[in-house]
Amino acid sequence: MISVCEVGPRDGLQNERDILPPETRADLINRLSGTGLPRIEAVSFVRDNAVPQMGGAEEVVGAIERRDGVEYSGLVLNEKGLERFNAMTLDRMNVTLGATDSFNRRNANASLDEAKERASAVVSSRPEGTTVTISVAFGCPFEGPVDPGVVSGLVDHFRGLGAEEIVLADTIGVATPGQVKTLIGDTAAEGFHGHNTRNTGYANAYAALEGGAKLLDASIGGLGGCPFAPRATGNIATEDLVYMLEGDGVETGIDLAALIAISEWLETVLGRPLEGQVYRAGASPAARST
Ligand code: ZN
Repeated sequence: MISVCEVGPRDGLQNERDILPPETRADLINRLSGTGLPRIEAVSFVRDNAVPQMGGAEEVVGAIERRDGVEYSGLVLNEKGLERFNAMTLDRMNVTLGATDSFNRRNANASLDEAKERASAVVSSRPEGTTVTISVAFGCPFEGPVDPGVVSGLVDHFRGLGAEEIVLADTIGVATPGQVKTLIGDTAAEGFHGHNTRNTGYANAYAALEGGAKLLDASIGGLGGCPFAPRATGNIATEDLVYMLEGDGVETGIDLAALIAISEWLETVLGRPLEGQVYRAGASPAARST
């Protein structure tokens, strides 16, 4: 059994043009928690004015109808975020930093060393129940290909601090399957977070499993790829991933039909087709209307 972490309410919506109010985001989370998904990344504790799509994180968390067996997480970049996280009752903290200087400067106004220090302080305060996600682990929009040795060094560093698990993220969807399998295998990272920007996302997720990953991030409907942005960067779609895995006998414990129903609902909320393909094609030819 592998774990799928649903990141649509966070990574997905954060990269959408539309800003959904906290009650709609909580509604999405509550629908997702009924599908058998073991994990949902619910919110991000960043400044509301920096990322308006993620505004009102506390309101979202307050409106979550907690369901047994589902782990709810929040994203934290620094100590300010940690304070907000600690004031909430979430199960898991996801601390993230980029693998390059330029990405951290754009994303967190910090050099790589500064971002590493900030993340270290946060992780050290709560290593249990903490995931460290290393963004742009395979390629950076500003610096190009990333040295695997740098990523390995970061993985070792955060393991040394006691971080419970490490996720390598192909944030801009540039990796190819061989690279993913090798880097996951070499670092023994527990998880992989992939975007389908260049159509390699699903093959990469599969390769991550072959490399030893036990956790895959995905976003309902492939949320996150704004069709109006010149460089769409959608996550792999959760239902497309589940279709592929279950078809190959990899158990996820997730109800595919329930996921599809949520993407159909989301399409009406956002007023446009989503990037995921399985919700439009149907789970099987028999289930498809003629
Ligand atoms: Zn992402």
